[in-house]
Parts: sequence; structure tokens; C-alpha cells
Amino acid sequence: MREADNAPDPVMLVIPHPDDAEINAAGTVARWTRNGKRVIYVVTTNGDKGSSDPAIDQLELARKRENEQRAAASLLGVQETIFLGYPDQELEDNSEFRKELVRQLRSFRPQTVLTVDPFRRYPWHRDHRITGQVVLDAIYPFARDHLSYPELLDEDLTPHLVEKVFLWGTEDPNCCFDISLTFELKLEALKCHQSQLKVDDLPKIEDWLQKRARRAAAQETFPLGEDFHCIDIWW
Ligand SMILES: [Zn+2]
Repeated sequence: MREADNAPDPVMLVIPHPDDAEINAAGTVARWTRNGKRVIYVVTTNGDKGSSDPAIDQLELARKRENEQRAAASLLGVQETIFLGYPDQELEDNSEFRKELVRQLRSFRPQTVLTVDPFRRYPWHRDHRITGQVVLDAIYPFARDHLSYPELLDEDLTPHLVEKVFLWGTEDPNCCFDISLTFELKLEALKCHQSQLKVDDLPKIEDWLQKRARRAAAQETFPLGEDFHCIDIWW
């Protein structure tokens, strides 16, 4: 598998729920920020259904998860975190959501975008599937074409071309990043999501992530990796 370290700067992650980036890409993010890359998080939903507590206040949960995501991002050296605030489990593949993503792409103008692979088969969270597919549509053709959402031109949000896309959660990985030196930081960042973790489960989660990272790097010369499906976009 090719080692795909040539991810051009800046980098944007489009993330369905607070904690998805830490589970799937935090080792890579930490590696990039250490190398001076500018990384931006865009979180699509507020995660307000991520609890098994029947007495939970959803507004309070969303606020808590936003703070947890900010803490994790700050630990990883992410420069900016944007919350789109859609309710958990209620994303739709519609023009409004697509336009919002085009707005983020044209504002921050990332050369590299990381998001979730929408084409993973069952079971797959609806917010993951929809975030992934709408991000890909937003990159091509909507962010590229000046006649798509022409009203954005009035805000100086001119067309933008993304060069590379990396999809996590993929069944078809074709590249892997070495996270051997950032794996511990990934765990620390994941621990910021306290609303999603029971303290007793931590050893089990660490073990699961460790096995996953070893499996991802099985064909590589390094021990721990995060794998993605990488797409080079030729414009
Ligand atoms: Zn998720």
C-alpha cells in the first residue's frame, strides 16, 4: 500500500459526530500539525443523541460534546473547529447541507479533505453515509463551479479546487499513515470525549484501537497506522 504523506496544506476534516475524527484520524492529524500543517475541523452534527441515559438533556449533551471536541482538537493542534450544529441522526442529502459544505470549502480553501467513506456497506450510520457523500458532491462539482450557488460569489466565496481526499472507515484502503509516534496522543484526544466513554471500558477501547492500528499497518514497515481510501483529483 502506498504511504500517502504528501497531503497538501491546508487540511480540512469533515466529521459527522464529535469523536469520529479522534477514532479514525487523530494520529494522522497530530502528525500533520507537528509538521506545521494547518488543520481545520468541520463537525456536521451536534451529537445530541449520543447517550444511553434516559434522563439526559439533549441541549446539555450537545454543549458538552462541543466542549469535548474543542478539547480534543486543541490537544491535537487543530487550528480551527467549526460546528454546523445539525441534529444528530437528522442529516439529509439536500441542497441546504451541500451549500453549507461548499461554503466551508470555499472559505477555508483546503487542498486536502478527510471525511468518512460513504460507500461502506452495512451497518453504517446514516450521518456517516450522508456526510461522506455530500462532502464528495460538494467538492465536485459544486465548490468548483461558479454557477453552483452563485449567491456565494456575493460573499467573495469563489470557486475552489480540492486536490486530495482521504476517506476513513473504508472497506477499500489504498494508503496508510504511520501513527506510531502519535498513537498515545490519539488516545489522549479520544479520552476528551468523556460523555462517550465509561472509565471501565477504557482498557478495552485502547486494546481495540491498538489492534486496529496494527491491522492497518500490517503490510507496512511501521507498527501502527491509520488507513484511508485516497483519491487524487485531476482537474
Ligand atoms: Zn459518528
